[in-house]
Amino acid sequence: MITANPVPTQPAAADAPTRWQRLWRDAVRDPRELLELVGLPALAARVSDTAAAQFPLRVPRGFVARMRHGDPHDPLLRQVLPLDDEDRVVPGFVLDAVGDRAARGGPGIVHKYEGRALLVATGSCAIHCRYCFRRHFPYGEETAAAGQWREALAYLAADPGLDEVLLSGGDPLSLATPKLAEFTEGLAGLPHVRRLRLHTRLPVVLPERVDDGLLAWLADLPQQRVVVIHANHPHEIDAGVARALGELRRAGATVLNQAVLLRGVNDDVAALAGLSERLFEAGVLPYYLHQLDRVAGAAHFEVPDAEALALHAALSARLPGYLVPRLVREVAGAPAKLPVASLG
Ligand SMILES: *Cc1c(COP(=O)(O)O)cnc(C)c1O
Ligand code: SF4
Repeated sequence: MITANPVPTQPAAADAPTRWQRLWRDAVRDPRELLELVGLPALAARVSDTAAAQFPLRVPRGFVARMRHGDPHDPLLRQVLPLDDEDRVVPGFVLDAVGDRAARGGPGIVHKYEGRALLVATGSCAIHCRYCFRRHFPYGEETAAAGQWREALAYLAADPGLDEVLLSGGDPLSLATPKLAEFTEGLAGLPHVRRLRLHTRLPVVLPERVDDGLLAWLADLPQQRVVVIHANHPHEIDAGVARALGELRRAGATVLNQAVLLRGVNDDVAALAGLSERLFEAGVLPYYLHQLDRVAGAAHFEVPDAEALALHAALSARLPGYLVPRLVREVAGAPAKLPVASLG
């Protein structure tokens, strides 16, 4: 834009987007373009414009490249394509499925469990997963990174019982590395916080995010570092993703995976076993297998508890114990994620 009195700006180089930021911005956002790319133009008839307007399609091109061409049941495609199934109103599927609003500890702070506080670092994600429980969360209004993290750091400072802080979102790695460093510089003044955990899907959906700057930041942190990634199907982990995960480990992070049990994506033993094995090849241990949060628009992804338990039993019979994730459900008001086996 040309203005009469231009204000001095930073030199262009300081603002130049990094490679991952360019790839991020280049994500596919039009369902019809996505369907062209995977060779399924006829599926456009089933796309819901209502759902796409409420929670837009967003998927990095590298993730699209891992989809099977011409397969309408592709497990990666199903996670991102806004279909007319989402328009069905199903009783029990609600806007705030996990009671986040009630557990709000301050702007962008969700403190539900003893010793751990979760910061909604940002509302942005590189990919929009159709089953996401936060698809209706009012992110724009409240994130911990707003205001230079001051309120989040003050909250953590005021509670010496907090020994772990989780950066979540949205996806915390959608913040630029200097913004993350701003937070950890403040955190270094709080010795009671011994562990920093990142909940992020970016190493899976945009592995280019794991760049030298991020790795240097991670390697220098005084806290113990845990990175919990999110992959639901073995096809999500290609060679580039495996490389990024290896680099996170070499930077000193323990890397774990959480998955969501999803109808039509990973609701069979072969997919779940394949996921655990592929993760382990990449140096990652499975952590949780979540039962779906009952969020409006996601009912078609639900696998009933009885079936989930049967799948989990079959998985346990097939894999060594360390490759079997804990099957859990988040229950509003509960002191932890609850084993589905205890719910009955
Ligand atoms: C899931 C969650 C955690 C982490 O729980 P873990 O069992 O430690 O993985 C922490 N805080 C909130 C608000 C959560 O939803
Ligand atoms: S990356 Fe995580 S927070 Fe973002 S849309 Fe997917 S499931 Fe939700």
